[in-house]
Amino acid sequence: MAVFKGKTVLVLGGSRGIGAAIVKRFVSDGAAVTFTYAGSREAAEQLALETGSTAVLTDSSDRDAVIARVRDSGPLDVLVVNAGIVIFGDALELDPDAVDRLFQINIHAPYHAAVEAARQMPEGGRIIVIGSVNGDRMPVPGMASYAVSKSALQGLARGLARDFGPRGITVNVVQPGPTDTDTNPADGPMKDMMHSFMAIKRHGRPEEVAGMIAWLAGPEAGFVTGALHTIDGAFGA
Ligand code: NDP
Repeated sequence: MAVFKGKTVLVLGGSRGIGAAIVKRFVSDGAAVTFTYAGSREAAEQLALETGSTAVLTDSSDRDAVIARVRDSGPLDVLVVNAGIVIFGDALELDPDAVDRLFQINIHAPYHAAVEAARQMPEGGRIIVIGSVNGDRMPVPGMASYAVSKSALQGLARGLARDFGPRGITVNVVQPGPTDTDTNPADGPMKDMMHSFMAIKRHGRPEEVAGMIAWLAGPEAGFVTGALHTIDGAFGA
């Protein structure tokens, strides 16, 4: 399929997991794809080589670097902000600097990237941020900072959809449930607990999430904006 032939796509955080599946999907649908990485240089270079995409080092905890990367990659037809981290632990014990870094990567970077992308984005542009079903539901202790960050993306989509809607640019959040990646492996120690909440008792596949993103970025989704798109096997239902 060449749905995205001639389109320019930037994926923030594309070296591994869901981000790598997003990169592969857009490349196979004909887009020119650039993606960022921070720690996984080898995986990023390998993915770029395999797919013909472009890997660039940009740490999402560095606001000005993110803004510069988005600006220099534009005009973008599609921006996907996938980079995200999670920290676990007693809220009373967590290092506040670690919590602030999570907020920088998971909240500040998506906001500033989305705004910067919109400066040059043509009509019909798409901004998609990767949230989490934990933005809606947090059934376990120790992950409040992550839940805060993913709920914040809901406000980002609702607000920026209003700002950019008049230009035909859509802004949406995709909210995965448990998805098989390095961060949340399908055979990890938490799998039975997570599956107990779900109607479909398995981890999602990164490719399934990428499929939803491709639809949102495509021509059929021009009227879909300011919305949350949950793909979670009914984890949050
Ligand atoms: P992984 O840990 O497998 O991959 C994370 C990706 O984000 C990597 O490509 C990583 O790049 C990149 N990244 C992390 N920190 C930075 C940074 N500071 N700067 C640039 N890139 C960065 O995560 P997943 O694929 O599991 O998750 C992807 C997204 O999906 C996240 O936003 C996550 O919160 C969300 N999500 C995941 C779920 C799951 O169950 N897997 C469930 C719900 C939401 P590098 O290694 O090069 O630093």
